[in-house]
Amino acid sequence: MLLKTTLPPDAPLFTRLCSSDVLIVVCFLHQTLISHSSILLYSLLLVNELRLLTASHRVISQHLVFALVTTKRLVTLNVNFNFLKAQWARLRVVHVHSAFWALRVTFVLFVQLSQSPWQEGMKQVLSSSCETVVMLFGMACVISHITHLLHRAIAAFLCLETDTEAGSMGATSGVLFFILALQTGLLGMGPEQKLSRLYRNCCLLLTAVLHFTHGLVHPPLMSLSASHSSSLHRHSRALLVAMVLLVIPSVWLRWLWAQHSVSTWLLAMTAFSVEIIIKTLVSLLIYGLFMLDAYLSTFWESLDDYVYCIQAAGSSFEFICGIFLFCNGAWIVVFESGGVIRAVMMAIHAYFNIFMQAKKGWRTFVLRRTAVRKINLLPQATAEQLREHDDVCAICFQELTSACMTSCKHLFHGVCLRKWLYIRDECPMCHHAIFAQQ
Ligand SMILES: [Zn+2]
Ligand SMILES: [Zn+2]
Repeated sequence: MLLKTTLPPDAPLFTRLCSSDVLIVVCFLHQTLISHSSILLYSLLLVNELRLLTASHRVISQHLVFALVTTKRLVTLNVNFNFLKAQWARLRVVHVHSAFWALRVTFVLFVQLSQSPWQEGMKQVLSSSCETVVMLFGMACVISHITHLLHRAIAAFLCLETDTEAGSMGATSGVLFFILALQTGLLGMGPEQKLSRLYRNCCLLLTAVLHFTHGLVHPPLMSLSASHSSSLHRHSRALLVAMVLLVIPSVWLRWLWAQHSVSTWLLAMTAFSVEIIIKTLVSLLIYGLFMLDAYLSTFWESLDDYVYCIQAAGSSFEFICGIFLFCNGAWIVVFESGGVIRAVMMAIHAYFNIFMQAKKGWRTFVLRRTAVRKINLLPQATAEQLREHDDVCAICFQELTSACMTSCKHLFHGVCLRKWLYIRDECPMCHHAIFAQQ
């Protein structure tokens, strides 16, 4: 038989057949045969996949690079990817693989439990659940289903409308799990090693889920505080999720450090967890400041500076974490286990989490510095001018207790005008240049 199974060699042929990846071929053939197009394409993909099954993970990584190159070529050849996407949805690739995985794991479970003691059997089941590329993909599909459900549950709890992006957390964690497994060479490992690797990968995945959760709870926290919403249960629910995001990583970190000795994995886990805690703290602090502002009757001029400082501190910390994780990854590549996939992932991490972050942060900083300088050049309105003006600030519609005067004699809060300057150099009222005389 082409494919390896965990079953004893003397098992009946039907049993061996059912437990092997041949099932997936049957599922696909069934689906493809009832359709009229794309049979060729999927058979090709399938043959390719079957070929991969017997290959070691090193071959797979070479294969992936090859696939990437081919994809690039296809893009330049202007192949319609909507077609592939439609086929992906129509053939229910994710559902078929999940069902296949669940079926096969159940099957192995029955066989193992009837043969070996409970604990040993479970170990065998776990290690066989990610035995081949197809099984690994099936597992990734199941994980993506679970995280998708989790995403919807959290969104419902936070009273968010489930939008079209609701699947993003599910899809991303599925892909992440799959890449992580290939990157760490899960397929080529022995049962014991595989189990410990699987556990470590799942821990990393869980921190990613916590990061997603923060991404879910941050916008409602900001909008609730900024819009001065009085809906108590929405506030308390958002705050509860934020508290959970503070408690889980801290308790977890303490437990991990007590259980494991220092390793690159533990350091990466620590960096990820601390990052979540810091991000959540930043969200909560800004939320607190906005809430305080809502209860103050006067215009709080320095609020914007506080918010900027907190955000800048948070972003700097995230940036440091990014660099630390990069060094950690470089250490793994050089001293522990190299590989094309890991190197590619590191390059992606370096580009998005380090380079782009630094560029964005620096741009915001420069923009703000120039705006502050420009505002300082404008004259402050005198008490008499303010009395004469007798109106609110045209940008924020709040009372003017102090104001800057533009060259066109319009009055605004310094902070409001500064934010406006990030976008354009004209007076928001009359569209004259604000700095005509300079
Ligand atoms: Zn204003
Ligand atoms: Zn004006």
